[in-house]
Amino acid sequence: MVSKDMLNLGRVRSAIRELFEFGRKRAAIVGEANIYDFSIGNPSVPPPEKLTSEMVRLLNTSDPSALHGYTSAPGANETRDAIADNLNRRYGTNFSRRNLYITCGAAAALTSVLRALTVDRDTEFIAIAPYFPEYGCFAATAGGKLVVVEPDMEHFQIDFSALAATINTHTQGVIINSPNNPSGVIYSAETIRTLADLLRQKSAEVGHPIYLISDEPYRELNYTDSPVPFVTDAYDASIVSYSYSKSLSLPGDRIGYVLIGNDMPDFDDIYDAISGSARIQGYVCAPSLLQKAIARAAELDLMPDLSSYKKNRDALYEGLTAFGYRCMPPDGAFYLFLEAPGGDGDAFAEAAKDEDILIVSGRSFGCPSYLRVAYCVSYETIINALPGFGRLYQRFSK
Ligand code: PLP
Repeated sequence: MVSKDMLNLGRVRSAIRELFEFGRKRAAIVGEANIYDFSIGNPSVPPPEKLTSEMVRLLNTSDPSALHGYTSAPGANETRDAIADNLNRRYGTNFSRRNLYITCGAAAALTSVLRALTVDRDTEFIAIAPYFPEYGCFAATAGGKLVVVEPDMEHFQIDFSALAATINTHTQGVIINSPNNPSGVIYSAETIRTLADLLRQKSAEVGHPIYLISDEPYRELNYTDSPVPFVTDAYDASIVSYSYSKSLSLPGDRIGYVLIGNDMPDFDDIYDAISGSARIQGYVCAPSLLQKAIARAAELDLMPDLSSYKKNRDALYEGLTAFGYRCMPPDGAFYLFLEAPGGDGDAFAEAAKDEDILIVSGRSFGCPSYLRVAYCVSYETIINALPGFGRLYQRFSK
């Protein structure tokens, strides 16, 4: 006998993964260059050269037993010190190693946080659509529920009255993701301040803190001149989930962290519950070599090279809107969220396969009449896919 819930999770693969696998199979038939795979958020920009050379240096010069050995569960002290220093330099914060728990990417960070904050089966976490589909699995695995609030559909900003109406005594946290996958929206400092005010008011009403869980794998993928606001400045009960998957192009290496703000109520309980949660999920420690690598990246202030994402974004946005597609110009991350011509994201994404264009229906993100196009691909893929997008537009806008 096996767990029915786990069996379902294992068998019903995510729509994104399904499409990615379809693309692999088609590529074997028609050739890699003839598949326009916009399905998955795998960075197309390689990790910074300096990071690769630092990893080679570490491999060549370190004591292998120390390099590959277990670290302490929350992460090596040197790694957490280096990250805290880096954040303090960049944001004028006052963090130290005690604020950080190093994880195997944002997925592990989020599952650990949600598990730590789930008090019973009625526990609710609120996500604002469009949202990363795995939040549903993470909340369910934690033993609670994900509740989705519709955004203001015009600009994909937070609909504060809908959010206020959804918060209740079972609400433990609100998950935000800015820069957003899939809309590319970045919340302004004013939006974060308004959210913080609402959460303070609602925490007082329900009689317990409502945690703000800020999922930030795209923090550095910001094409605007305004910084992405740091949530711990605005709200005491803030927890950040961070990942190096996108910023340093290390998605397969599984490295990120949880950060807890200094003014968090019951700081020690929250930190220890996250440690316990990571422990029962089997995250013994994050990969040791990667911990050393990101410590060097933090010391060297390594940043992603945004030039090719920006070029892709502009070519795709201009090419698609010239055909008549409607979408907001994305400010961050590497996704474009299109209104599906004809209004049905599933039907459009299915038809796009006829053109060997792989895009994801917005249904998984809570917006079924939209489509997500991940533009972390080569520039040629975008240019070569545009005629197919043009034919699809003609087909669906009749
Ligand atoms: N959160 C968001 C919004 C994402 O887009 C992703 C990955 O695409 C994750 C979390 C998980 O990232 P990681 O690779 O660090 O687990």
